Amino acid sequence: MAIDATQPYDESNIFARILRGEIPAKAVYEDAHALAFHDIHPQAPVHILVIPKGSYVSWDDFSEHASEAEIAGFVRAVGHVARENGLVAPGYRLLANAGGHSGQEVPHLHVHLFGGRPLGPMLGR
Ligand code: 5GP
Repeated sequence: MAIDATQPYDESNIFARILRGEIPAKAVYEDAHALAFHDIHPQAPVHILVIPKGSYVSWDDFSEHASEAEIAGFVRAVGHVARENGLVAPGYRLLANAGGHSGQEVPHLHVHLFGGRPLGPMLGR
């Protein structure tokens, strides 16, 4: 079920638990501001999730409340992960769901990074 984008941060969400090391994830990158790991149900040959280490529900929360250093660090980490996984030359897609209409399910900001094949039209039906 999609989240309410205005809800307070829930420390028990699945990505908070991954950040605390309480449940495993197949990490591909980590630095002071971000963690990247493979999506558990990949929707493309490459499907990586990049999350900030801070406690932000969504892109809306992050863009309003994160520090300049957190925002810069996170954006740089997303670009780094795309380059390190060979996605720049063939091309890739970024997607961040935010709130009800988007279908966001996990209430910790995450950017989906898709690649590895032509990705088709921008939006599904
Ligand atoms: P959303 O719909 O919130 O944008 O995307 C949530 C994503 O998180 C989905 O693509 C889903 O497959 C992924 N996901 C949910 N639970 C887990 C988990 O425990 N581990 C990993 N690696 N991915 C998860």
